[in-house]
Amino acid sequence: METEYMQIPTAALHQWVVELFLAIGSEQREAQLTADHLIGANLAGHDSHGVGMAPRYVLSWKAGELQLNQRVAIEQDSGTMLTVDARCGMGQAVTQEAMALAIERAQAHGVCIMGLKNTHHLGRVGHWAEQAIAAGMVSVHFVSVCSMPIVAPHGGREARFSTNPFSVGIPVPGRPPVLLDFATSAIALGKVRVAHNKKIPVPPGSLLDSEGRPTRDPGVMFPPDGGARGAMLPFAGHKGFALAMVCELLAAALTGGRASLPANMTQGVWNNMLAVVFDPQRMGTADLFSEEVQAYVDWVRSAPLAQDSDGILLPGEPERRSRLARAELIPVDAGTVAQLDAAAATVMEQTGRSPGPVSALQRE
Ligand code: NAD
Repeated sequence: METEYMQIPTAALHQWVVELFLAIGSEQREAQLTADHLIGANLAGHDSHGVGMAPRYVLSWKAGELQLNQRVAIEQDSGTMLTVDARCGMGQAVTQEAMALAIERAQAHGVCIMGLKNTHHLGRVGHWAEQAIAAGMVSVHFVSVCSMPIVAPHGGREARFSTNPFSVGIPVPGRPPVLLDFATSAIALGKVRVAHNKKIPVPPGSLLDSEGRPTRDPGVMFPPDGGARGAMLPFAGHKGFALAMVCELLAAALTGGRASLPANMTQGVWNNMLAVVFDPQRMGTADLFSEEVQAYVDWVRSAPLAQDSDGILLPGEPERRSRLARAELIPVDAGTVAQLDAAAATVMEQTGRSPGPVSALQRE
């Protein structure tokens, strides 16, 4: 079935998100950072972590789970090791603050290992690697997700954990950075939601139905009330499963955050993150590094193309291309627009304030 899209001017959509969060009570800083992040994810081509997440945040705020305008609390600080409690705050704002602390310490000591616990959904993890890259830092991010389990362990058919993402950002002097950023599930849940809204199948190898049979129907993850849910699969079989386990153990168990155990499940989407942030200049190899990257990238790109290949891209390149293509207009599918309009109506009902429907912003 053909998916219907609305073309929404990027600047107007950004302002709509700012106003939505101001209406529920976020301070200007929080509303602005949240909009920068969500629109930034749409610009990067990751609609799964773009404005389509806003209705979930509104739901979590309405349920009294997401706490607005929180500042992080430092629990342990030995300079190179930092444990930070986000106090159930808006992920886009508290993670920005926590990353700034980690970067500050890496600038002072060369490295900082930062554990961040109890943040509401921190969105596209690459955004945080980009914050480190902007300060010239390499960063590695292990993230756990505590919400309803949706991913089956390798060899199992019932979900036991979530899409635990992993990201690595590498600034390269004089060249675009290298940015790896993916979920350890075969695809991100947001992409299953987008496929469900668009009424299109997901790629093979992504899902099991509730009987444990492989399926491409995204609807198995959104059964009618009381129906049995299917499960998502880790990427690359046992390898993705192993990385997801490591994310859970380092990001949740080690930082003291909520692990994906049944007793911890609520309406909200909670994240924990272990980030290793370090200054590559302190390795004493900066000049050589840049040259090595240049030589290696050229060598990689010189590989003859496979059949039907569009070319060899580096991690981070698809996102840069998408930003150019979407600078003026962001395509939002009709299902997501309907959910955003409903969220604005809920906010109006609750607060008497709202940015109005997103559908009104559509470019004719
Ligand atoms: P994905 O499968 O689109 O993979 C993205 C990564 O692969 C990027 O590093 C990209 O540059 C690279 N890439 C893509 N195509 C490429 C190509 N042809 N050649 C080379 N590299 C290529 O991402 P995903 O798994 O769907 O994750 C989407 C987003 O969801 C990520 O930003 C992730 O952080 C986010 N996420 C967040 C949470 C959370 O709880 N906060 C949970 C899961 C995922």
